[in-house]
Amino acid sequence: MDYQLLINEVYHEVQSLQLEGKVANYIPELANLDIRKFGISLVTAKGEVYTIGDADEKFSLQSISKAFTLAMVFASEGEALWKRLGVEPSGNPFNSLAQLEYENGIPRNPFINAGALVITDIIRSKTAKPIDDILRFINKLVNSDTIKINQTIAISEIKNSSRNTALAHFMKSFGNINSPIDELIETYCNQCAIEMTCTELAQAFLLFANYGQNRFNGDQLLTRSQTKRINALMQTCGFYDEAGEFAYTVGLPGKSGVGGGIAAILPGEFSVVVWSPGLNPKGNSAKGMKALELLTTKLGHSVF
Ligand code: GLN
Repeated sequence: MDYQLLINEVYHEVQSLQLEGKVANYIPELANLDIRKFGISLVTAKGEVYTIGDADEKFSLQSISKAFTLAMVFASEGEALWKRLGVEPSGNPFNSLAQLEYENGIPRNPFINAGALVITDIIRSKTAKPIDDILRFINKLVNSDTIKINQTIAISEIKNSSRNTALAHFMKSFGNINSPIDELIETYCNQCAIEMTCTELAQAFLLFANYGQNRFNGDQLLTRSQTKRINALMQTCGFYDEAGEFAYTVGLPGKSGVGGGIAAILPGEFSVVVWSPGLNPKGNSAKGMKALELLTTKLGHSVF
């Protein structure tokens, strides 16, 4: 398969469709993003890199960071983790409060904001410098020490985090959050503001395509079974109330973020990242969704 030709075709076809979407404006700093940006990077399991468009520009991971924090916590806690959150799709928007009340403060899954806050709370309980640990984990996956937080975005989100603060307080009332809320929100907003390029993120996501192994140093960070489970969660919950649509049209485990990135993998074959800041009404990159649909359709290959 000529992956360069494939992503070139996908890129040009998506550009011809004039799918714009809207930038996330509930985090003011994200409202400044240039809606015309569009990049794709595909990295094979062996590490060959194919790119087109704005694949070397940094963007904030936002909810894609939840895949890395879940990997860290699952590796250290194992199945005990599931006492504090579930593995079922929520069918609700990422920042919804509704289910939490009648499910007694136990979030449906680790990818909605409530679940991600529990995961970050666990990281905080293990280390004095949680954000340093998260950055170290990600930097090792790309064999670098240059992955950092965009401070302007982090501050912008911290100042506008009423909804996440409400989720955290609500879960604390059920005894499912231990950290002081303001410190938890600060760590969470910092993790969401970590910046990577499409290529860096695709390299890091090889962890999930390569059965839990760091390709650069051979470290087995997750067991094969844990990797399967994280991929299953990305497939069923990675796109919130659009997870079914993503499974139906794309057919790959993946994770989206309101910074406009989508990272997806085909186990044993490749990881692929698309970035374009214009979001559809569900908060997922409009061009990203279309690009990945075209990619697996043209390839004739997906996990299904
Ligand atoms: N930082 C964002 C938030 O908590 C992440 C949401 C997302 O990317 N879906 O609202």
